[in-house]
Amino acid sequence: MKLILLGAPGAGKGTQAEILSKMLGIPTISTGNILRAAIKDGTPVGLEAKHYMDAGKLVPDEVIIEIIHERVAEEDCKDGYILDGVPRTIAQAESLEKAGIVFDHVVSLEISDEVIMDRMGGRRVCEHCGASYHVVAVPPKAEGVCDTCGCKLVRRKDDEPETVRARLEVYHKKTEPLKAYYAERGLLRPVENQPTVAENSEAILRVLGR
Ligand code: AMP
Repeated sequence: MKLILLGAPGAGKGTQAEILSKMLGIPTISTGNILRAAIKDGTPVGLEAKHYMDAGKLVPDEVIIEIIHERVAEEDCKDGYILDGVPRTIAQAESLEKAGIVFDHVVSLEISDEVIMDRMGGRRVCEHCGASYHVVAVPPKAEGVCDTCGCKLVRRKDDEPETVRARLEVYHKKTEPLKAYYAERGLLRPVENQPTVAENSEAILRVLGR
């Protein structure tokens, strides 16, 4: 099964990708997490990506395309994977298509900008493994500590309100056109935002026919 999770920043892609990954037994590939790890390790890709990310802008397509093609070629991807936060532009989608990668479903998480602005203030991520939490909606078992690896939870710099606004603008302009792109290919599965994480997972599984 090869899935794409589309949706605005803060729509819950990361949270749902982790749940689905466990249920379906396939890895999640998050370009955001890969880039954050590259920044932490001080690699050339990290150095290039950092200023785009801090400003809420997209990292150039060439950089993302190289990362994603390398990652999907790894052994653990042979039975499928979930793409979280990629593709984010038509150029990225076309590059995956050109490589002959066929997706089963493109799930689009539908949520208003207002709800996202409210939600982002409470988001925390693990600085080690990238798992995401929310102080109210998805709290960790122990405050400030990741359930999975025990490392510290932090607020991402790009979750500041000004940056979130910039990221929403970028989403509407550059990423939202992917909905029409995948609808034309008969793959788009819109899922309206639900009150809880569990209900969102159920709604996604329904559109996947599970
Ligand atoms: P995310 O964790 O998916 O919200 O990504 C955080 C930031 O990483 C984004 O705001 C972009 O700056 C960058 N990024 C992640 N994935 C992509 C992508 N597919 N294309 C371009 N930039 C990306």
